[in-house]
Amino acid sequence: MNTLTNGQLNELQASLRGQLLQTNDAGYDSARAVWNAMIDRHPALIARCAGTADVRATLAYARDRGLPLAVRGGGHNIAGSALCDDGLVIDLSGMRSVHIDPQQRRAHVEGGAILHDFDHEAQAFGLATPLGINSTTGVAGLTLGGGFGWLSRTLGLAADNLLAADVVTADGQFLHASATEHPDLFWALRGGGGNFGVVTRFEFQLHPVGPQVTAGLIVFPYAQAKAVLTKYRDFVDGMPDELTVWAVLRKAPPLPFLPPEVHGQDVLVLPVFSPVQSAAMQEAIERIGSFGQPLGMHVGSMPYTAWQQAFDALLTPGARNYWKSHNFTQLSDAAIDTVIRHAGKLPTPQCEIFLGLLGAQASRPAPQDTAYPHRDALYVMNVHTRWDEPADDARCIAWARDFFNDAAPYATGSVYVNFLTDDEGGRTVDAYGVNYPRLARIKQQYDPANLFRANQNICPAA
Ligand SMILES: Cc1cc2nc3c(=O)[nH]c(=O)nc-3n(C[C@H](O)[C@H](O)[C@H](O)COP(=O)(O)OP(=O)(O)OC[C@H]3O[C@@H](n4cnc5c(N)ncnc54)[C@H](O)[C@@H]3O)c2cc1C
Repeated sequence: MNTLTNGQLNELQASLRGQLLQTNDAGYDSARAVWNAMIDRHPALIARCAGTADVRATLAYARDRGLPLAVRGGGHNIAGSALCDDGLVIDLSGMRSVHIDPQQRRAHVEGGAILHDFDHEAQAFGLATPLGINSTTGVAGLTLGGGFGWLSRTLGLAADNLLAADVVTADGQFLHASATEHPDLFWALRGGGGNFGVVTRFEFQLHPVGPQVTAGLIVFPYAQAKAVLTKYRDFVDGMPDELTVWAVLRKAPPLPFLPPEVHGQDVLVLPVFSPVQSAAMQEAIERIGSFGQPLGMHVGSMPYTAWQQAFDALLTPGARNYWKSHNFTQLSDAAIDTVIRHAGKLPTPQCEIFLGLLGAQASRPAPQDTAYPHRDALYVMNVHTRWDEPADDARCIAWARDFFNDAAPYATGSVYVNFLTDDEGGRTVDAYGVNYPRLARIKQQYDPANLFRANQNICPAA
């Protein structure tokens, strides 16, 4: 990068509508910060793109000079794949427009939009598509890896609801990918991550949701975790598509509906969500509450957009984070024991073990229907290790790894690509699973020189 002259940099800036940041510019450090404060990369240039023309110009500039390239959507990836050292970042954070077509029930979403942007616009028309549980996550990275959240049992993954995408590919072409145009590329975008190009616009199917939904938390004492999780597992078998219940083991946050003496204690939280408001749903919630003697229960009617932001306060950017994730097709007694044992040794009050529930509509497509292959994953477990001080790095990471290793015998061996950390390159093939060979062939077709490699990388087929 040192070899670039001022003239060459001026040439790039002149070709952009957005701003080009160099290392000594004001704003450079905030532009290179991502959600996970463990990531400390120093790109040589950050192009804050204002539109597709900027994306194409920046991409061509990096490709023609052989510079490392990264693409930033919402900047949430735990592995920090939105950034590269020394190279050029295509930063889409200025491209966040969301256009809703209520008649056709379609959302047209720019490549840098975050979940809040999407939900805000779509809910103005009582519409939604399945996204994730934290409103500051990028729509792009989430969808390209699969994307699941509270609506996924009812309506599938974010990627299942993708209808088309506009993509700038490595050779600079601007392609419209859909089931009928560049269908291989379209297939690969639905779970193959950022390997195939820069998506400047997504088109999603929307569904009527809310604006009021049924949602909330049921909090049980840690001492009842075994009994409650066992009943939860048995209940999941007959659960309707319209109901989702996750399980989170952590220290109790200072929630107003919990007695003050519970704050900071080990607890099991069952977050409950349904897009439906009905007597049957109310009955189901009461039944879940009867799995034990809750310390507190706060479930009822609330705006969908409020629930989509309910966990933001626990997931703010700027903390140090290390994740480990497993997929499970079932929760055996031994798996439950392992989870509970390690949850009793949380290294900091911000850490948690969560079990996200899929199944129902998220499991109905065949593994090869989209690039996301894990249709058998009923529970996606993620160890959220979170702390503030670098001095705690080794201790916190060791706890996550210990738990991960102890839980491995009960897991499938596969993993959700969007939960892979920086040091887990060896699990990339597990993340793409049965679809890896086809993804590698499509990579060869659209990105034979592996320009897009700041990601959970797929090697172009030989
Ligand atoms: C607090 C938190 C909560 C989360 N909750 C969920 C959840 O509920 N469900 C879930 O499924 N996942 C969840 N995730 C994981 C999330 O899906 C991934 O972190 C995802 O990569 C985030 O996308 P992003 O655009 O914010 O990330 P970035 O870090 O910006 O990008 C991630 C990857 O996608 C590529 N990329 C980004 N934008 C584009 C684009 N427009 N075109 C091409 N490639 C692009 C990047 O190059 C990079 O490789 C969560 C993550 C966090 C940190």
